[in-house]
Amino acid sequence: MIGATVQSALADRIVEAIQTVVGPGPVALHEPRFAGNEWMYLKECLDSTYVSSVGKFVNRFEAELAAYMGAKYAVAVVNGTAALHVALRLAGVQPGDEVLIPALTFVATANAVSYCGAVPHFVDSEQSTLGVNPRALREYLRIITEVRDQQCVNRATGRVIRALVPMHAFGHPVDIEGVLAVAADFRLALVEDAAESLGSTVRGRHTGTFGLMGTLSFNGNKTITTGGGGAIISNDFELARRAKHLTTTAKVNHRWEFWHDEIGYNYRMPNINAALGCAQLEQLPDLLRAKRRLFERYAAEFARISKVHLMAEPKESRSNYWLQTLLLDDSVAEQRDLILAATNEAGLMTRPAWTLMHRLAPYRTSPRMELPCVESLERRLINLPSSAQLAMEKAG
Ligand SMILES: *Cc1c(COP(=O)(O)O)cnc(C)c1O
Repeated sequence: MIGATVQSALADRIVEAIQTVVGPGPVALHEPRFAGNEWMYLKECLDSTYVSSVGKFVNRFEAELAAYMGAKYAVAVVNGTAALHVALRLAGVQPGDEVLIPALTFVATANAVSYCGAVPHFVDSEQSTLGVNPRALREYLRIITEVRDQQCVNRATGRVIRALVPMHAFGHPVDIEGVLAVAADFRLALVEDAAESLGSTVRGRHTGTFGLMGTLSFNGNKTITTGGGGAIISNDFELARRAKHLTTTAKVNHRWEFWHDEIGYNYRMPNINAALGCAQLEQLPDLLRAKRRLFERYAAEFARISKVHLMAEPKESRSNYWLQTLLLDDSVAEQRDLILAATNEAGLMTRPAWTLMHRLAPYRTSPRMELPCVESLERRLINLPSSAQLAMEKAG
């Protein structure tokens, strides 16, 4: 109600700018697009009766995904959270360890750490990438840790900090070279949460291929979807083999015997979801072109409005522009809720940043560094309608 009655010239201008780009609305934040071989592959999958954990589509999806990313191996799983869970276990994360993750992320990153019995340790981001700030992190680790027997120990808690999980927020690559250097210097395993950044690259190399492992999500709101789905990416044969084994109930291959050599997970992506994925992957280049076009159209409009700034891809990298992101200047940050109200009332779906992890009930007592950048971003960030079809070139 307040949003409807209080005037904000800035909110009105933002509504106009979005409408100029996407039309009058209603417009969702992000919708999937099924314009290719989805129906054909799904029918083929149903006709084959192989709808579950075995079938040609799931193997094909893995091979085509790995080839697209320039990675050696992809292991398809039920969702991105499961991918992170297993990647962290394979990175050596044990109960009682700590794992460094950004405070500005989707809750899945923190939950996957918890599933390992480990404790998430929250780190700050930088505005230019919206991801982990390697300089601030290095300074912080220099003060609070010591490297003992090739392990990074948090001197305050006595726990081993085992891994670092940068996340490429809204598709924008982090400063991956800076982050890799911190991981190497402090003996941290690097797992990239690339759930949001399929198709994003740094100097031509795909996000998700820099660390020991990378993880993807194919949830319905991501750049391409399998309904629910995820993948673990690696260039290491042994890690990929272990990932496949652990995500398929640790069953030893045999034509009829049920022999499981450890406690595995039922995390394999079903063939029917992979059928959808094969069709979606074929359209990924078109989707990425449209999303880039949408960014350019928004950029042209928002360039004419002062005190707001549309997030562009960081230097040396290409973003998949999964979610378009508007940053308000500090001087107008208090208008964020008015802008959210005005846009949503106009049928233009926008939303604020995720609640920072250290404010969520299960993570209030987790260790963290000072978080000035993400606390500022949280007050100023607005995601805009970002579906590829908003800028798809019309056929003919
Ligand atoms: C979407 C997402 C995931 C994984 O989500 P699932 O719904 O489990 O596929 C993980 N991390 C981030 C940052 C995400 O945005």
